[in-house]
Amino acid sequence: MTHIGATTEMVVPVDLSLAEARRLLDKRELSAVELAEAHIARIEQVEPVVQAFITPMFEQAREMAAAADETIAAGEARPMTGIPVGLKDIFCTVDAPTTAASKILAGYRSPYDGTVVERLRADKAVFVGKLNTDEFAMGSSTENSAFFTTRNPWDPTRVPGGSSGGSAAAVAAGQAIATLGSDTGGSIRQPAGFCGVVGLKPTYGRVSRFGLIAFASSLDQIGPFTRSVEDCAMILGAIAGHDPRDSTSAPLPVPDYAAGLTGSVRGMRIGIAREFSAVEGMEPGVQAACEAAYETFAKLGATLVPVELPYSKYALPTYYITAPAEASANLARYDGVKYGLSSEAETLLETYLRTRGEGFGPEVKRRIMLGTYSLASGYYDAYYVKAQKVRTLIKRDFDRAFEQVDVILAPTSPTVAFPIGARTDDPLQMYLADIFTIPANMAGLPGIAIPCGFSDGLPVSLQIIGRAFDEATVLRAAHAYEQASGWHTYRPDIARLVAR
Ligand code: GLN
Repeated sequence: MTHIGATTEMVVPVDLSLAEARRLLDKRELSAVELAEAHIARIEQVEPVVQAFITPMFEQAREMAAAADETIAAGEARPMTGIPVGLKDIFCTVDAPTTAASKILAGYRSPYDGTVVERLRADKAVFVGKLNTDEFAMGSSTENSAFFTTRNPWDPTRVPGGSSGGSAAAVAAGQAIATLGSDTGGSIRQPAGFCGVVGLKPTYGRVSRFGLIAFASSLDQIGPFTRSVEDCAMILGAIAGHDPRDSTSAPLPVPDYAAGLTGSVRGMRIGIAREFSAVEGMEPGVQAACEAAYETFAKLGATLVPVELPYSKYALPTYYITAPAEASANLARYDGVKYGLSSEAETLLETYLRTRGEGFGPEVKRRIMLGTYSLASGYYDAYYVKAQKVRTLIKRDFDRAFEQVDVILAPTSPTVAFPIGARTDDPLQMYLADIFTIPANMAGLPGIAIPCGFSDGLPVSLQIIGRAFDEATVLRAAHAYEQASGWHTYRPDIARLVAR
């Protein structure tokens, strides 16, 4: 482990925070082209071990960086101008293939950019590549990618988490200053936690999902991975806001998130829920680090308040009814006619069956079967409708808690990053990795994962859940803790990683 600030050496461009890079770019002490080249060199150096990228975009990155330098020279820089950014390969991009890490999208190229991609492109961010994920974002480790498993930069024998594992690993390994992922049940927060970086799932509706390949439409939300909370605030400001092309995106103004980071939680009321501790399989090192973090908030002048979220224990089972049901409907479009893979057959029906049989991996097939079952007539009321009712109860628990507190603290995941292969034979064990993240998805609430220490040399992560559309308070609390604790300044040892 290395510690930024532990030495007086000049920080290399791949270790910069977004905020620091912005200052250097604006002062012209660093060019966007230099910054892009430094990241390309780092990607080439660590990629044989980390394997975060499905499609590197070096050529595009160089062109975009040159254009960014012109924008900066013209005095028109925006927060993301010239910043190397990686995209989970589930966002549609016109200038690179979009695979969702699935064979069924082989050769697919989107005719349009997703809204977040379009916004970053307009701001002259620099895209370094498309990042690995579990197939269609279904998983918690990237082991369900049809292509390869990404490795955790802290320990390459371990998973980076998932599904946005490539996005988390790339930020941890210095391959991009920031990345975007998607979070349906924890796929931003859990991998951010496993890789020791910051990951935010905004409120459902805060960021447009247009051009995000759909998994479970009532849950999917896009958000950033960064090395600091300030960076997270900066990129959120660039991607958030209403979009007429996504009817679920909220027509609400976007606050200046970075300006709201006061560094203080004095007087803030912070909820601690029994339901978020001592679950089966919780590692003592994780529990201890999170409890120490709660104490830090108290020392910083916040008031810790016990809250109750009794229906949260049903979040995981209701998620595994809801998400597969929506997935089975969303994935019906991959039929061998409209997109990507098409397996030759005599009849149209055989084309459908063959394409789907050959194109989808085992976890995706499991979800489609689960979802089709729970939507079938005769089972619909017992499963899908019931799950929606429980979802309302989960949400009401949070509504009640937020009458008393401003944010709620929880561990991000009950364990640190687990070894590659440890859970692949046991889907239930894999699903349990998201036990603490899924409640916020079911309730549509924003949640951030931030580093809060180490257990056995691996990062532990604290989750901060907030009221709907109150990312500002979540970010403020996260920033105050981060500045007081300094856990975000630790990085994996890259020299050791590549020497293995
Ligand atoms: N791990 C969860 C699942 O497999 C969540 C995935 C996600 O948030 N995209 O469904």
